[in-house]
Amino acid sequence: MRHFVTPAILLLCTLTACAQQSSPIPTDGNPTHYDLSTYPKVRDKISKTNAEWRAILPPEAYDVLRAAGTEEPFTGPLLNNHEQGIYVCAACGNPLFSSATKFESGTGWPSFWAPIEPDRIIQRTDNTFGMERTEVLCARCGSHLGHVFDDGPKPTGLRYCMNSVALRFERK
Ligand code: FE
Repeated sequence: MRHFVTPAILLLCTLTACAQQSSPIPTDGNPTHYDLSTYPKVRDKISKTNAEWRAILPPEAYDVLRAAGTEEPFTGPLLNNHEQGIYVCAACGNPLFSSATKFESGTGWPSFWAPIEPDRIIQRTDNTFGMERTEVLCARCGSHLGHVFDDGPKPTGLRYCMNSVALRFERK
């Protein structure tokens, strides 16, 4: 009996270790290991006046990014994008999300279960419209991106609900 139990335990341990190694969120915080070295650094902050943002952003993007608006659901051009690549901030180019974490939430907005790196975004409490939500902003330029909710899929259980016009997609 002992000869059978020991290999079984070893096999179980090996399988568990393999499962941990293939976790989609590695210790460096980048779920896809995309090379982000050529992208803007979060520490190189961008600060512009409303007039300057208005001059460079399309009106619908300005309304979301700089005035915390929300686009109509099922209208955004990136909602049904299934190509592989990186979603960057439409205002400053900061890489925010990977296609590897995009999922079909059915909400009408592009949804992700993790940012491409934790420090690429900022989260803060939003009490507007009589709701308590968690707002998600670009950590580099402070633009509003959307909100994060705790009803997402595994492995994080989070749903980053983003506005399409706040993102620009770069195919990889
Ligand atoms: Fe930005």
